[in-house]
Amino acid sequence: MTEFAGLELAQPILRAIADEGYTTPTPIQEKSIPPLLKGRDLLGVAQTGTGKTAAFALPLLHRLAECAIMPHRRQPRALILAPTRELAAQIENSFRTYGRHLHLCSTVVYGGTSIRPQIQTLAHGIHILVATPGRLIDLMNRGHLRLDAVEVFILDEADRMLDMGFIRDVKKIAAALPKRRQTALFSATMPKSVQSLADSLLSDPVRVESAPSATTVEMVEQRVLFVAKDKKRALIGELLNDKGLERVLIFTRTKHGADRVARHLDRCGIRSDAIHGNKAQNVRQRVLKDFRSGRIRALVATDIAARGIDVEGVTHVINFELPNDPESYVHRIGRTARAGAAGIAISFCDHDERTYLRDIEKTIRQSVPVVEDHPYHLAEIANDPGPAKRGPQQKKRSGHRGRHRATQTAGMAA
Ligand code: AMP
Repeated sequence: MTEFAGLELAQPILRAIADEGYTTPTPIQEKSIPPLLKGRDLLGVAQTGTGKTAAFALPLLHRLAECAIMPHRRQPRALILAPTRELAAQIENSFRTYGRHLHLCSTVVYGGTSIRPQIQTLAHGIHILVATPGRLIDLMNRGHLRLDAVEVFILDEADRMLDMGFIRDVKKIAAALPKRRQTALFSATMPKSVQSLADSLLSDPVRVESAPSATTVEMVEQRVLFVAKDKKRALIGELLNDKGLERVLIFTRTKHGADRVARHLDRCGIRSDAIHGNKAQNVRQRVLKDFRSGRIRALVATDIAARGIDVEGVTHVINFELPNDPESYVHRIGRTARAGAAGIAISFCDHDERTYLRDIEKTIRQSVPVVEDHPYHLAEIANDPGPAKRGPQQKKRSGHRGRHRATQTAGMAA
């Protein structure tokens, strides 16, 4: 196994990694750092939780530190684009952590917060800029930022970026970058749209992959509980009576759903809060801080809000509602079991979600063990052959699924 010391990173970077307690690079780091250090472009198929931030941040810091120059006003040497504010803030935080023994300045800009301090920081001069697309373009349009000195460009979570409708912004930003530069694009999934964006941005890239199936999914202990929709709230209250569920991230499909669950838990005496796109940036940050510090035990989130949330020690992920696309399921459960630590993912599945569960099981190539030992177990969902629109053959096949019975509620906190 490669050690960080063997990766030819500058000493101050190795010291910062040691300060963090990292001993060995994660697979995505092991595969990405050497080509990035050689100056190659890179296409990384990796999701959050695999250590991808350090995979691009460490070689980037190394490169900038090798040729140390004073920061230029309004002209960063490195640009990292991220789809959400939380992710952008977190990435910049990582740069500060890994670059703490170097003399490089970084900052983060995103919308939903005052632009003035951002303008001032840019005017002082920075080396590394982390940004969300909208605010970046705003700053460029107002003449507070130029991208012609960018040597390294990183596009993180490209798939989410496109999902959120940022394609035109990304193209506009890319057009303002110098042609001669190093570029890395990271994406959890690689649909055609991301591939064609990658083709337009990258030059002869090295492709590295950290498949979720081989990492996250296998690290997480997964269970499913069959329950009627109107009993889900009672069930979640019941589960959280178990103090073994220490730090719990709960997913709902909608923002209102997230609020409702958080309120319900609060009423049950379980400290909790919700985070989603309707909340102001400062509120979101406060909620995250409370969750990190343990002031609240349960955080209820929607998929988009949860992307980029990096909270250490999430013991359990609960899918209050199953997502309708399997990739989101993999992302969600990846919030526990981060970089080597084991975690537990519990999914509630009602009648309407039976199909989602089937699709998920197909994608992760395993059947999720069913927990029957809870007060609201609905056996008829387990035996449900699927929606009427399915053909008789499919019905028969799916009838054999979900037979895997295992684990008791008592083991839920394990
Ligand atoms: P990321 O996928 O970049 O969001 O990283 C996921 C988590 O793994 C973060 O909390 C990092 O601090 C942590 N991490 C990254 N690299 C390593 C490593 N080599 N060893 C241990 N933890 C790591």
